[in-house]
Amino acid sequence: MRDFVETAVETPVGPSGPTEWMETAACSGHSELFFAPFAERPEARVRREAAAKLICGVCGSMASCRDYARVNRELGFWGGESESERAEAGFPPTTPIIGRKRVAEMRARAAMASAG
Ligand code: SF4
Repeated sequence: MRDFVETAVETPVGPSGPTEWMETAACSGHSELFFAPFAERPEARVRREAAAKLICGVCGSMASCRDYARVNRELGFWGGESESERAEAGFPPTTPIIGRKRVAEMRARAAMASAG
């Protein structure tokens, strides 16, 4: 997985990488906790992301999920990391702020579909 991450980070091309870990995602059915609603207030974001982090904490896919989100510069909360935490780790999202929720939903749907 690490080789894949290092290679993909150098040449980001959109959603790519292993997705079999999604089949056991503990967040299935809880997307409202993992993607920000329109005009979310900072306090609400803190509460939402804390709830998401609890779910990630019991998920067996956390490392693979985090790597996938970093490589693909995903929006939302993935692998126990928020967007800002991913950015601090050197993997900021590449999507403009306008339309981010729609892009995040489309990416998540496409990734789940390719895993299933
Ligand atoms: S680590 Fe979190 S975001 Fe990733 S699949 Fe598991 S519960 Fe979902």
